[in-house]
Amino acid sequence: MSKPKLITEDGIRTDGRRFDELRPIRMEVGVLDKSDGSAYVEFGKTRVFAAVFGPREVHPRHLSLPDRAILNCRYHMTSFSVEERKPLGMTRREVELSKVIREALETVVFLEEFPRTSIDIYIEVVQADGGTRTTGLTAASLALADAGIPMADLIAAVAVGKVDGQLVLDLNDVEDKYGEADMPIAMAPRFNSIVLLQLNGRISKDEFPKALALAKKGIMEIYRLQREALKRKYSATPEGGM
Ligand code: ADP
Repeated sequence: MSKPKLITEDGIRTDGRRFDELRPIRMEVGVLDKSDGSAYVEFGKTRVFAAVFGPREVHPRHLSLPDRAILNCRYHMTSFSVEERKPLGMTRREVELSKVIREALETVVFLEEFPRTSIDIYIEVVQADGGTRTTGLTAASLALADAGIPMADLIAAVAVGKVDGQLVLDLNDVEDKYGEADMPIAMAPRFNSIVLLQLNGRISKDEFPKALALAKKGIMEIYRLQREALKRKYSATPEGGM
């Protein structure tokens, strides 16, 4: 297929957004019964669940660490999350994403508070339309907070990129596929620290700081929505309560 036009002369993107707009976002915590913490996050058509178990005993025991918890993370896309069925099981891409997501989360979780245990995070992408690693990270940090795991901050993430020569925030799947660059970024906003930054494609030296500023703007909004989602759950009046 030849490259579709991604931005009109009036600056409108394929899904009607301007260059600096996020997709419609939905977030909810405590969505699953059987995990210790959970979250559902939606960025447009990208939809992701995250479930957290632990801190819990490590099996086999000799794999446990005497001075801290082990953080296990599995990022997985369901076979029906994309147009062409994704093969069952973990692809190389999913193994790589599980690793970079874990490394980003390890920067904020107080693992040393739970020696000899593991904290297990499962990220399930149920519908993919670009930005699944950033949506997965955003959901995972919410699920960790929902599980009551002590953290220095939440992680909020979004991709920025370049399409039809223009920097844009929060790429969707067509923009990711046919654009010139895709740069997922995750931050611990309280410390203004970047905990994940990847770049697929090319952007110039001059564009880089502009792209970063655009991502930060999106991340601050995502961070606000995360805190709101947590407050919604914990300030809700219990059923039948006062
Ligand atoms: P991210 O989802 O974090 O942007 P990628 O840049 O690797 O990660 O993927 C971009 C998008 O490509 C995904 O969000 C998804 O919509 C699509 N995609 C990824 N893997 C597959 C696959 N196996 N089959 C079809 N589409 C895929």
